[in-house]
Amino acid sequence: MTKDTTKHPCFNKETAGSCGRVHLPVAPKCNIQCNYCNRKYDCVNESRPGVTSGILKPYQAAEYMDKVLAKEPRITVAGIAGPGDPFANPAEVLETMRLLNEKHPHLLFCLSSNGMGILPYLDDIAALGVSHVTITMSAVDPVIGAKIYAWVKDGNVVYRGEQGAKILLERQLAAIKGLKERGVTVKVNSIIIPGINDEHIVEVAQVAAELGADIQNMIPIKPTADTPFAGIPEPGKETVLPLRREAGVFIEQMTHCKRCRADAVGLLGDDQSASLCGTLRACSKLKPLDVEMARPYVAVATREGMLVNQHLGEAKSFQIWGEADGAFRLVEDRQAPKSGCGPQRWTDLATTLKDCRAVLVAAVGETPQMLLEEHGVKTHVVNGFIEDGLRAVYHGGDLASLKGRRGGIGGACCTGTGTSCG
Ligand code: SF4
Ligand code: SF4
Repeated sequence: MTKDTTKHPCFNKETAGSCGRVHLPVAPKCNIQCNYCNRKYDCVNESRPGVTSGILKPYQAAEYMDKVLAKEPRITVAGIAGPGDPFANPAEVLETMRLLNEKHPHLLFCLSSNGMGILPYLDDIAALGVSHVTITMSAVDPVIGAKIYAWVKDGNVVYRGEQGAKILLERQLAAIKGLKERGVTVKVNSIIIPGINDEHIVEVAQVAAELGADIQNMIPIKPTADTPFAGIPEPGKETVLPLRREAGVFIEQMTHCKRCRADAVGLLGDDQSASLCGTLRACSKLKPLDVEMARPYVAVATREGMLVNQHLGEAKSFQIWGEADGAFRLVEDRQAPKSGCGPQRWTDLATTLKDCRAVLVAAVGETPQMLLEEHGVKTHVVNGFIEDGLRAVYHGGDLASLKGRRGGIGGACCTGTGTSCG
């Protein structure tokens, strides 16, 4: 699926008023220690990276994403920005991206990393369709880097001082280059730390530009209690604006950053993390089974109750099937929303099927499929017996092989029925 990369509110100021982003806090560990960071969880009034109301496992993040999209359909970007570093938690991050790719392929995926552990995963990032990556790089001289980072960890070995800063810098430079070689849009975040790197940060811009980075975001340090830099005051406009002007000669500057939390959600100017923090906490307690239990049924588009043989758009009602003790049972016939109301019809159908994990149809258009899947209802094109489709959904069979089979009236390829199925 081709993604519209202009719909990223952080990278495209014009869309910031109409497109939003959600951060999925699936990465608790970090592989370096910055002298300005204290990853204290659970302070919803605090807006800065490293802070979140909860940690999600990948399957919880996928469920949370469904709920966020149901509440705020203007979300176009799913990002992972901590509260630690994505590549100190690569398995969780890649699994989350894989699940989102399956359920919400139209979303843009964005990752924000310190660059330390990203190199082995550059090909995965590209293959999973991650379009935007931020690398936070605040120094390109290990002498200055050594003042910013208390330590960096490579595998089980911890490096301190200039040695640590040098390793980190080498990884960051290689990461920017490797990401650009793979066609990923790259932002470089640089923290302005007065007295530490403020006279050096334009050099960071120059190096980032030489490596092909697309944009730089200079972020004033926010003093955080119980950190070595707690006493450094936050630099004001009089410091930040001239630095951006100078650095802007080399690389485009970002000016509308809101310094998001690790669980930020909503439009940049209309953050909803406070109103969704209960949802996030609830999702963080879900057990794998809970996710399936929340959607115990499968909806079926059928004329006579034996074959899957109706297009999504022509079904006036759906059979709702469940499974108990290994046997499938028909629970009820459920009315579909009225046809002919545009995309709203599919959002209404998603609500009608909110206890169903999937709907089996003989054909489906791209729009309804996308809208239903955004709301957590998978659509499967099946030609043949209902029972075969149910078995594949409940017991993990090969649904693709049921797609092209004969048995129903509809085909996998929708030829249009005049019933507005998208
Ligand atoms: Fe904190 Fe991020 Fe630095 Fe890790 S990389 S110590 S999470 S600011
Ligand atoms: Fe991506 Fe950073 Fe924007 Fe989050 S705040 S969506 S990680 S660019």
